[in-house]
Amino acid sequence: MSIAKNVENVQVRVNEACDRSNRSVHGVTIIAVTKNVDTETAEALLNEGLTHLGENRNEPFLTKHAAIGEKASWHFIGSLQTRKVKQIINKIDYLHSLDRMSLAEEIEKRAEHVVKCFVQVKTSSEESKQGLEATEVVNFVRNLIHLEKVEVVGLMTMAPYTEDEEEIRTCFRQLKNLQEELQRLELPHVPCTELSMGMSNDFEIAVEEGATFIRLGTILVEE
Ligand SMILES: *Cc1c(COP(=O)(O)O)cnc(C)c1O
Repeated sequence: MSIAKNVENVQVRVNEACDRSNRSVHGVTIIAVTKNVDTETAEALLNEGLTHLGENRNEPFLTKHAAIGEKASWHFIGSLQTRKVKQIINKIDYLHSLDRMSLAEEIEKRAEHVVKCFVQVKTSSEESKQGLEATEVVNFVRNLIHLEKVEVVGLMTMAPYTEDEEEIRTCFRQLKNLQEELQRLELPHVPCTELSMGMSNDFEIAVEEGATFIRLGTILVEE
């Protein structure tokens, strides 16, 4: 199948998930995750109207950014080593993997603009999943509010890879509840209006549960 067809199919499925949950399709932004494809394919996705691109490692991000530049909004979705912040921080628009104070402090030091950050939260018990425990999030965010360059636009999570729809849904609900809790605190630099959740295998559930950014790789580029 072509990229154009893949994008069209995904958009139909997002629309249907929005209908089922009484949401406006304008409230859901697709991030095309280009970590496994080349610059040419990233440009093809851009040409299909997907202007938000996501990468998870520094070098491939820098290569694509050099070629595509400001035509895209850039999302860094992978874990970011503190010593590598300076390479990328002034080229990205969103960071989806804020998970520790040392990273926030390095961003404060290196960033020349406000960086829209998602705090990454572990909502499943899968050992491999990155992020803060849900119980740690409020305290963590309270400690960030003196940082001018770190804006907590929302929360991010990855659900476990499973066939069990309820298990996935529970993770996304947990993130939504935590978002509402943070919004009620009305902390400075913490609008927390966004939810980054949902991947190729579970984006419809994520949309139904309130995702505002879905991160799609495989489903957009598969043959
Ligand atoms: C790779 C990746 C995605 C996209 O995964 P697909 O299953 O290919 O859609 C989304 N989020 C993160 C954090 C990723 O690393």
